[in-house]
Amino acid sequence: MLSSKEYEEIFPALKRKINGHKLIYLDNAATTLRPKEVMDAVNEYSLNHHANVHRSTHTLAAEATKYYEDARSKVANFINSETEEVIFTKGATESLNLIAYSIADSNILRSDDEILISTIEHHANFVPWQQIAKIFNLKIKYYPAKSGIFDLSDFLKHITNKTRLVSITALSNVTGQLIPVNTLIKQIRNIRQDVIIVVDGAQAVPHLPIDVKKMDCDFIAFSGHKMLGPTGIGVLYGKRKYLNEMTPFLFGGEMIDKVSTDGTTFNVLPYKFEAGTPNVDGAVGLAKAIEILERIGMDNIQEHEKQLTSYALKKLKELDFLEIFGPQDETQQSIISFNIKGVHPHDVAHLLNDLTGIAIRSGHHCAQPLMKEFGTSATCRISFYVYNEEEDVDKLCDGLKKVWEWLK
Ligand code: PMP
Repeated sequence: MLSSKEYEEIFPALKRKINGHKLIYLDNAATTLRPKEVMDAVNEYSLNHHANVHRSTHTLAAEATKYYEDARSKVANFINSETEEVIFTKGATESLNLIAYSIADSNILRSDDEILISTIEHHANFVPWQQIAKIFNLKIKYYPAKSGIFDLSDFLKHITNKTRLVSITALSNVTGQLIPVNTLIKQIRNIRQDVIIVVDGAQAVPHLPIDVKKMDCDFIAFSGHKMLGPTGIGVLYGKRKYLNEMTPFLFGGEMIDKVSTDGTTFNVLPYKFEAGTPNVDGAVGLAKAIEILERIGMDNIQEHEKQLTSYALKKLKELDFLEIFGPQDETQQSIISFNIKGVHPHDVAHLLNDLTGIAIRSGHHCAQPLMKEFGTSATCRISFYVYNEEEDVDKLCDGLKKVWEWLK
């Protein structure tokens, strides 16, 4: 990992002062800071090579297409997939909606098939399945994660001979619990071969090495802005055999083969799922972000965050005015949720920002079913990335003591 001075050069926002204090950014699960290199790459493309992709024959159009398709190859290489199995979307939310709608519409799921999801999911991996079940008359089952902790063997008990699709996060956006998805997928496949497995990788892909072939998931969804890239670009990886069978989600230009008054046939993968002019700037930015992550090394990132998370858990546990949620052990990475007893999390977040320049998130984190398991409506959440260090945790703990003194 680099020194904090080196990270300040890469991420200009780290040099900012907030209310007279040096910014400490602990809201990485919401979105990560922007490296200058990513924005420079987007600018270089936009100012010198921008044109519409896959259409015109002129030089700029050919260059723009090459930038876009090179970005796709970069993503494919990053997750070890085939290039045509990478579909660019707006983000993880759109990717998950795409899978849910298209798979239900393509008759891969039949009316008494069961979809299994858990109560630890982000709304983006919860609501689309609920809605799709309603529209297409499918059954939806929920694995209740007791006390908000996902238990593998308990989860497996919910697989029945009707389960046809499981959608699960690889890392909880509230507790940072790392779900052992590789083992989970193997065990599901031992019970039933034909279960379709969707992984919400929004919090995992930015923070640990992901190999879709090793994992053997059928789909994985993630967002560029949570991994140093721009907003408005995301990825859906899907196995070719399913993508080929699925109905497109959006219709229009680019996604067609032939159009006539008799009907329309669709383009090959991945274009079949990319209707309209895509976000080329976003794809270029994401490719550069991946280059930076690969330079640091995904193994190093995971190791760094695991150490930092365990240090933070140890320090936070020393503060007896806190209630911490989640497993509170080594199964957690990069995210911790807690509350100051008797104080609303929004007040804590506001005061931390104003008194100490520390940015954290407060709220339900788009995970209301999980909040219910915790018996609360909201929590404070801290989340780390490459540029965070133990000193940030020490300052957070000092800040929390200040907030507690202020409010108690
Ligand atoms: N899933 C998880 C686990 C997330 O944390 C998020 C973002 N908070 C999403 C899905 C949705 O991502 P986006 O808002 O970028 O579409």
